[in-house]
Amino acid sequence: MAKRKPLNPAEDSGPPRMVIFGVQGSGKGTQAELIAKRYGVSHVSTGNIFRSEISKKTALGKRAMRFLASGKLVPDAVTNAMVGKYLKTAAARRRGFILDGYPRNHSQLKALERLGGVTHAIEIALPDREAVRRIGGRLNCVCGASYHVDHNPPRRRNICDSCGRALFVRNDDRPAPVRRRIRIYHRETAPLLSHYRRQGVLLRVDGRPAISVVFRSVVSRLRKTLGAKTRI
Ligand code: AMP
Repeated sequence: MAKRKPLNPAEDSGPPRMVIFGVQGSGKGTQAELIAKRYGVSHVSTGNIFRSEISKKTALGKRAMRFLASGKLVPDAVTNAMVGKYLKTAAARRRGFILDGYPRNHSQLKALERLGGVTHAIEIALPDREAVRRIGGRLNCVCGASYHVDHNPPRRRNICDSCGRALFVRNDDRPAPVRRRIRIYHRETAPLLSHYRRQGVLLRVDGRPAISVVFRSVVSRLRKTLGAKTRI
């Protein structure tokens, strides 16, 4: 198979290939879902994929389980291979994608560059103290949807609006794993932002306002800065 030409984001004219960053609790998963719907791109959430594999008790799920439970990163070789598989699907190639939860460290960033890199990197900025407060009220569904008891409650108490299943609190949303995940974010993930800043594809959005306000900012920034260069 022919190797993909290295990406020059300024000249790219294919479907959008996006990545979203933000500390745990910043609302990046919710924004990623909204972006995926709005632009018709595949939402590739590594955390959701791992949780789904764990609930189906697959070999991958069994390998990943203890890392998720303690808030540690799943080994890069496992994660990179899994993401590579998703980004090579026909849907992701044709429609584009938004990666949520990947890359999380330098080795993953390099693997993503080998797969062609991204055209847009979005950072949802939120102070840690607010992030920890928000995680306290978070509810999730096995289908990947996420809610918050105050900011984004489901229509029926503890029931998913999308699929009707019962919502749950993630094990790694308990205080000790949350602290560990935030530490890992600052130590290993946040430094990757400077790579995307240098490429000129980083959009920083204030994550403090309501979900709909944050989403409007994301859309307006995407349109203004890169919309003309991709099929957005
Ligand atoms: P998230 O839903 O993005 O907060 O991810 C939940 C958990 O899944 C993380 O704490 C890790 O254990 C695992 N995970 C998700 N994405 C990655 C990744 N890119 N690299 C390694 N582990 C990951």
